[in-house]
Amino acid sequence: MRRAGDGLTTEVDVLVAGGGACGMSMAAHLAALGPRGLRVAVVDDGRHPVAERSWAFWSSRAELLDAAVSLRFRSVRVHAAGREVVLPLGCYEYRVVDGPSLHAVVRELCNGVRFLRGTVEEVVDDDPDGLARVVVDGRTVHAWWVLDGVSPDPAPPRPAAWLSFTGRQVVTDRDVFAPEPTLMDFRTEQADGVRFVYVLPRGPREALVEHTAFAAPAPHRSVPAPEAGGPGGTTTGGPGVTTTGEPAAEAALDEYLRGVLRVRGHRVTGTERGLLPLTGAPARRRLSAHVLAVGGRGGLVKASTGYAYGRIQRDCAAVARSLVATGHPFAVPSPHRRHRMLDAVLLRVLARSPRAIEPAFLRLFDRLGAETTLRFLDEDTRLAEEARVAATAGSRPFLRALLPC
Ligand SMILES: Cc1cc2nc3c(=O)[nH]c(=O)nc-3n(C[C@H](O)[C@H](O)[C@H](O)COP(=O)(O)OP(=O)(O)OC[C@H]3O[C@@H](n4cnc5c(N)ncnc54)[C@H](O)[C@@H]3O)c2cc1C
Repeated sequence: MRRAGDGLTTEVDVLVAGGGACGMSMAAHLAALGPRGLRVAVVDDGRHPVAERSWAFWSSRAELLDAAVSLRFRSVRVHAAGREVVLPLGCYEYRVVDGPSLHAVVRELCNGVRFLRGTVEEVVDDDPDGLARVVVDGRTVHAWWVLDGVSPDPAPPRPAAWLSFTGRQVVTDRDVFAPEPTLMDFRTEQADGVRFVYVLPRGPREALVEHTAFAAPAPHRSVPAPEAGGPGGTTTGGPGVTTTGEPAAEAALDEYLRGVLRVRGHRVTGTERGLLPLTGAPARRRLSAHVLAVGGRGGLVKASTGYAYGRIQRDCAAVARSLVATGHPFAVPSPHRRHRMLDAVLLRVLARSPRAIEPAFLRLFDRLGAETTLRFLDEDTRLAEEARVAATAGSRPFLRALLPC
């Protein structure tokens, strides 16, 4: 195997472009489940260090990277349509993976994987019988397979909606936070689209409090483009960083902390901000003979929720199994058409009748329970359960949204 003078391997079996949630998880799954002796490199430019991020997800089973889980909850809270419900999760656990732990756990599992700092500038795959060429900081790395989480989509589908987050990690001067996460609290101004506050407690005086807004794209308004190199922009700030989010979201957070949680004094110890385009259209996974789109770039952000971490774990495992079974990474399941259609229905209701969403979510969580609702959002339900979900959520706006226009 040839190596460049600076240690950059110039030929690998698998090059993973992007070392965020997907790239790190992919490295671990390839090391644990992939073919023996696979030469893997993960290239990341360091613009969004994993160590400054965290991801929440729900699962009913043990996961490969559970050693990186720092918080686990058996119930969640929803406040909607004037009612608050605390819901046991049944077989599920709501878990939070912290970036520093994820980094440490993956490095431990991935003996032999090369983690490289660099910018992926180009992926060239013009010889079906040869290797793909990946240009990293002006130098070429040859790879049999490229798992690409960063190349911009040359023809991105028009988003059906945008999901924006503006979050603050806060420490309060008295006990304020409930023991379980609040998945949705609609006690925030509903200007357009759907807005709610998400609260992830780390203790009675510490939590991530995040304003979340789903908005349909306005026909004549320009929407801030997500950062290049990924499906959505994300920024995080360290201790003492001033938030720079959308002013309305910042004002809504101030109001929520003061008016709803009755917080008098608090410190902001970190911030989180992001903007994700949501589309019901299926993402193209196989980009060329040797290149598979992965992570957010591969369409793994669930259009109706904005969650991706759990789906990314399942996809990484499928890629590793595909390499073992077939020698290529492309034998991965694609989302079921029925679930894509249900996502599209939700996005249409969001665009046409956003006011219908809040009571519908309350009905789902309250009448079906959190376990069935989460299983539905996880695309793990059968037709009969989906019929129950539709009947429970069902109101005129949802029925109208079954019609494409
Ligand atoms: C603020 C925010 C919070 C979120 N929270 C959750 C959550 O709690 N739970 C959940 O399930 N989902 C969450 N999501 C959705 C989704 O899980 C994340 O966006 C997730 O990080 C997607 O994983 P990824 O690997 O595709 O992208 P990323 O994790 O963003 O990784 C992409 C990596 O590629 C690097 N990169 C970019 N361009 C290049 C280049 N040209 N060359 C080399 N490296 C490059 C970046 O530095 C980054 O490290 C959140 C999204 C945002 C924006």
